[in-house]
Amino acid sequence: MKKLGREHVIYAHDKCDDPVMFINPGESICVETYDCYQGQMLPADARYEQCDRRCINPATGPVYVRGAEPGDTLKIEIMDIRLGAVGIVDCGTPGSVLEDQFSQVTVKRLPVKDGVIFYDGKQVPAEPMIGIIGVAPAEEPVSTLSPGTHGGNLDCRRITKGAVLYLPVSATGALLSVGDLHAVMGDGEVGNCGVEIEGSVELRVDLIPKTERKYIMLENQEDWITIASAESLDQASEAAVWQMSDFLQQTMGMEAVDAGILLTLAGNLAVCQVVNPLKTVRMELSKAQIERWMS
Ligand code: CA
Ligand code: CA
Repeated sequence: MKKLGREHVIYAHDKCDDPVMFINPGESICVETYDCYQGQMLPADARYEQCDRRCINPATGPVYVRGAEPGDTLKIEIMDIRLGAVGIVDCGTPGSVLEDQFSQVTVKRLPVKDGVIFYDGKQVPAEPMIGIIGVAPAEEPVSTLSPGTHGGNLDCRRITKGAVLYLPVSATGALLSVGDLHAVMGDGEVGNCGVEIEGSVELRVDLIPKTERKYIMLENQEDWITIASAESLDQASEAAVWQMSDFLQQTMGMEAVDAGILLTLAGNLAVCQVVNPLKTVRMELSKAQIERWMS
């Protein structure tokens, strides 16, 4: 399996970036990633105020997928997520929901071992997820701090081992980048972070030509999931529902009325994150439920 080292970092998804790896559709790759502070908070004496903000939210890449063109869909199977030994969590950071409650930022370094996170003598099961996974957008570069239809900083905790992410390709070669792993994170990411951690991910990257699908889909064993980002949670929610309705009609061949009724009976909206420049919402719909509806 090809391995991409984390020294190849980007801070924006940009179609003009030079690729650091070329792969064929169907290939598997292992990508090393930094934590969202690029390791700056790992030393015991590191202080949040001294963190170089220019190095926040690095992603590793970009990877050029041969044959990928705008209008195609990149199919990314998340085969594994391996976590580093120490995760960082902070509290009271600017942008967090409870920011006003704290006069200073607290940073905690949490050991992570064998799927368990240790916090002041307490144990929290790890649920590894990928915060940033995206391709180059069609137009201007987009910061790795922001999510969008290119993917990016989606902070969706369903983007985890075993899931398959479908990203619309907007630039030749797609230019895939990955970063910002979390050992665990709650829906909403209300404190502005999860347990931020370095690590590596194994991905199998394939190409579905000419889908012309403009939005992000995610699939796991149980559910089909749409993901949408917008300036407000209202707008993001609406977009996630529209996307699922479109998916049911275009891909599953459902009538609009049947799709609409299924969504109100069984579609589950959930907040991915409320702390990034755009907010992200997902809609989850059980595959078993879809099957019953179509039988
Ligand atoms: Ca993030
Ligand atoms: Ca993060």
